[in-house]
Amino acid sequence: MAHRFDSRITVWQGDITTIKINAIVNAANSTLLGGGGVDGAIHRSAGPQLLETCKTLGGCSTGDAKATAAFRLPADFVIHTVGPVYRGGAAEEAEKLASCYRRCLEVALEIGAHSIAFPAISTGVYGYPLPDATRIALKTVDGILATIPNERISSVVFVCFDFKTLQAYEDILYH
Ligand code: ADP
Repeated sequence: MAHRFDSRITVWQGDITTIKINAIVNAANSTLLGGGGVDGAIHRSAGPQLLETCKTLGGCSTGDAKATAAFRLPADFVIHTVGPVYRGGAAEEAEKLASCYRRCLEVALEIGAHSIAFPAISTGVYGYPLPDATRIALKTVDGILATIPNERISSVVFVCFDFKTLQAYEDILYH
C-alpha cells in the first residue's frame, strides 16, 4: 500500500515570495549574501534590509539553517538554508539535503513559526536530480512531523516554481 504522508503537508505551484505564511525557506549559498534563483527573488522582494541582516550572520554551513526577519515580504520570517551542490551523489549530498529540511524545522520551532514553506532546495543551480531531491524532501519532513504536535507545526507547504517540480512532488505524494 502506498505510504500516506502527514496531512499537514501540501504542495503548491507558484512564487514563494508571494506567500503569507509564518516562515519561508530560502535556498541560499553559504555566504548568505544573496544569489540567483529563489535567493535572488527573496532578496528583491524583502528589500535591502534583508542583506544587511544576513551580513551579520557570518554565513551558514551546508545543511544548516538560520532565521531572519522577512522585512517587506508577506511572510514573518525567512529561514535561510544551504543545500548541497550535487557532485554525483557520493559526497553525502543526500544527508546534507535531509539536514537542510531537518534544521529548517528545528529553527521554525525555535522561532515559533507554525507554518513553513519550502522551495525545492538544491534542484536549481545546485543540480540535485529532481526525483531524488523530492523524495528526500518529502520523507524527511514527513518523518519529522510525526514527532511534532500540530500545535507547534500546523502546515508545511512545498512550493514548486514550475510544473515539472509540481509533478515530481505529486508523483511521490499521490502514487
Ligand atoms: P539551488 O541553488 O539550491 O539549486 P535555486 O534557486 O537555483 O537553488 O533553485 C531551487 C528551486 O527554487 C528550483 O526548483 C527553482 O525553480 C525554484 N525557484 C526559483 N525561484 C523561485 C521562487 N520565486 N519561488 C519558488 N521557487 C523558486
